[in-house]
Amino acid sequence: MAKKLIVLKFGGTSVANARRRKMAAQIVLGYKNKGYKIVVVVSASGDTTDELLRLAHKINPRPCEREIDMLLSTGEQISCALMALALQRQGVDAVSFTGAQGGIITDTSHTQARIIKIETERILAQLKKNKVVVIAGFQGRTEDSEITTLGRGGSDLTAVALAKALAINYCEIYSDIEGIYTADPHIVSNASKIDVIDYDEMLEMASLGAQVMQDRSLEVAKKFNVIIHVRSIFKDLRGTIIKRREKDMEEVMVRGVSFNEKEAKITICDVPDKPGLAGRIFTALSEKGINVDMIVQNISRKRITDISFTVPKSMVQRTVKIVRAISRSIGAGAVFSNVNIGRISVVGVGMRTHPGVAAKMFEALASRRINIEMISTSDISISCIIKKDKLKEALRAIHKRFDLGTKK
Ligand code: ASP
Ligand code: MG
Repeated sequence: MAKKLIVLKFGGTSVANARRRKMAAQIVLGYKNKGYKIVVVVSASGDTTDELLRLAHKINPRPCEREIDMLLSTGEQISCALMALALQRQGVDAVSFTGAQGGIITDTSHTQARIIKIETERILAQLKKNKVVVIAGFQGRTEDSEITTLGRGGSDLTAVALAKALAINYCEIYSDIEGIYTADPHIVSNASKIDVIDYDEMLEMASLGAQVMQDRSLEVAKKFNVIIHVRSIFKDLRGTIIKRREKDMEEVMVRGVSFNEKEAKITICDVPDKPGLAGRIFTALSEKGINVDMIVQNISRKRITDISFTVPKSMVQRTVKIVRAISRSIGAGAVFSNVNIGRISVVGVGMRTHPGVAAKMFEALASRRINIEMISTSDISISCIIKKDKLKEALRAIHKRFDLGTKK
């Protein structure tokens, strides 16, 4: 195999239409002219996956997952064939493969399949013939030749796994953004592009709301040390490098600020302050598959206490129903839910060694008279639950307080 081999992944926005596809093809051509052998991974164009899902649910509100995979995989299949055609139009010899043809073998968990191995022979044979190989992202096949998909955003995972399987351990992820920013640049006008970010920081940013890369792809990249370069299809500029932290990488206290509106708060009032009751409540919820996140129990003065926690918004109704029943059985009071909340978080590996991050964040919120309803921390992040309509203001205030913006 030639020394220079590269994996380039183009997301849904980069192949949204013929013009974008042509831009992507020109990027591939650029690498080709520099003597690279190239594997391209594509997502379905634009909102195709959402539209296919909508269609399925319209026909059958409880669609079977095998058929969902059959259906959703077509989005990327169309995309890879069109990309091969676009490349051929640019004079680049290209061939497209579905995930199955590309040798991506997964387990049998439809819609959330895990890659078990990649049989690279077919890809390598085409590369040897000097062809650009375009692979449909987000999909694979089981050992029994059933088509599977890798979870939403799974084309990132395809790219990372291919970079590992082809032993290049580097891939470029193209989209319409120039990289990862210290905060959403649509909201914070002087947000700055991050040059290098550690896997753990990126994972926190992703899971806390900055939807740039699929979480699982980051976990796999971290495990196998695959360096990811997130960059723009519009500008030939260095974007953000996601990689393992090295000693020389600056341990900034706060790398970025992110937020999301995916959770709701549930409060159970007047819970008797007796051992075992919290256990009953949260055991019941976990048995029903409800993912509880932040939990706060207020101090009890008269031997009763209020307990609040957050759950994904999509689970509010189920949660309230379950919790009301428990509340009755343990002699607790009313149960409330609040969907008008959001989570704002600061992320940075430097927090491990620099004290005072929480204080600074709370001060920034206080300076805008924003009330903190709940707090949680991990070793590299601090999150607060606040009113949803204060999120943007909070984002700007915290970003400024930590001096993360570009100087103008
Ligand atoms: N098309 C799939 C999705 O929308 C996979 C991807 O875009 O990476 O989730
Ligand atoms: Mg994506």
